[in-house]
Amino acid sequence: MSGKIIYFDNNATTGVAPEVRAAVLPFLGEEYGNPSSMYRFAGTSQHAVQKARAQTAALLGAKPEEIIFTSCGTESDSTAIFAALRARPEKKHFITTRVEHPAVLALGQYLEKEGYSVTWMGVDEKGRVNLEDFARALGRDTAMVSMMYANNETGNIYPVAEVGALCRERGVPFHVDAVQAVGKLPIDLATLPVDYLAMSGHKLHAPKGVGALYVRRGAPFRPFLRGGHQEGGHRAGTEAVPNIVALGTACELAGRHIEEENTRVKALRNDLQRRLFEKIPDCRLNGDLDCRLPNTLNISFRNVEGEAILLLLDQHGICASSGSACTSGSLEPSHVLRAMGVPFNYAHGSVRLSLCRYNTQEEVDFVAGVLPEIIARLREISPFKD
Ligand SMILES: *Cc1c(COP(=O)(O)O)cnc(C)c1O
Repeated sequence: MSGKIIYFDNNATTGVAPEVRAAVLPFLGEEYGNPSSMYRFAGTSQHAVQKARAQTAALLGAKPEEIIFTSCGTESDSTAIFAALRARPEKKHFITTRVEHPAVLALGQYLEKEGYSVTWMGVDEKGRVNLEDFARALGRDTAMVSMMYANNETGNIYPVAEVGALCRERGVPFHVDAVQAVGKLPIDLATLPVDYLAMSGHKLHAPKGVGALYVRRGAPFRPFLRGGHQEGGHRAGTEAVPNIVALGTACELAGRHIEEENTRVKALRNDLQRRLFEKIPDCRLNGDLDCRLPNTLNISFRNVEGEAILLLLDQHGICASSGSACTSGSLEPSHVLRAMGVPFNYAHGSVRLSLCRYNTQEEVDFVAGVLPEIIARLREISPFKD
């Protein structure tokens, strides 16, 4: 497909930044040295990986030696959780939330089968967790806590500093899935009480297939991949130099654009939100209006089918998502909206629009024109009435 695409699905994946593509090209060509080799030819690869590690660390306020490159956000989440659990095998209690991405959700379900007791933190109607619940859930047997920084479906931002402080007080390792937050929110791990933090390249304009995991110095860790000495012995395997260069470059760019993300992109999102609510009756915002990512808009339209909305949007070249891409294909409303108690006749008609720095006012104008017509048309023919 080519021509005019309006890409409003940046929480699912993002386009590769032109600067990232340019930085990677030499490493898909003449610069193919193995960073572990001793001769000068490999020095370029070696330095490129070092530079990327410094760029990634800088975006997070971490030290370069605390960054491990991985293949994706899912691997980073899995690595952190298994590493921490295996380092304290006698503890059998795991705490997470009901609104996690499947990368953590499915792990929690797996741990339950493996004999762990899992506390699934609920959320209120805006998708917010309750800190007192966390404080109560932490016990002597708690092996670790894993919570997302920002929700991929609603954009809700979670109280990482507060939960981290509770964990630290009790000496419990704390992992944060920050895949949606990195590049959209300023993060400073020098002050944030977090032991592990996962991020992914393709959510911030690097290609798919690369991620990073922050491991605070001294945090318990058991490597899964053993072999060579790459990544300080945390993850064996020859470094994916082009991907790593891409991630580092994307991190540096993200740092430079974070201000724009929170001003221009946020204003576009707010404009789109205001106009949709003005023109469309019977819709509701999913998420916490006061504590949301600047780029994300999740709306439910009463008595219409989310999938039908997406199909009609697609006919106009508009890419959006109904809830989470990983759960589409099933007609169940997303686990996030269910956890928030969104009424059935609304949950089915939910659409997520997620913007990025490449989106324009013209695109917002177009979507704000088309979407109300689509909803009106679908409501005319809707078999659902309540
Ligand atoms: C996309 C996403 C992931 C998974 O990252 P991949 O790189 O696609 O494996 C994990 N958590 C959140 C919150 C995400 O949005």
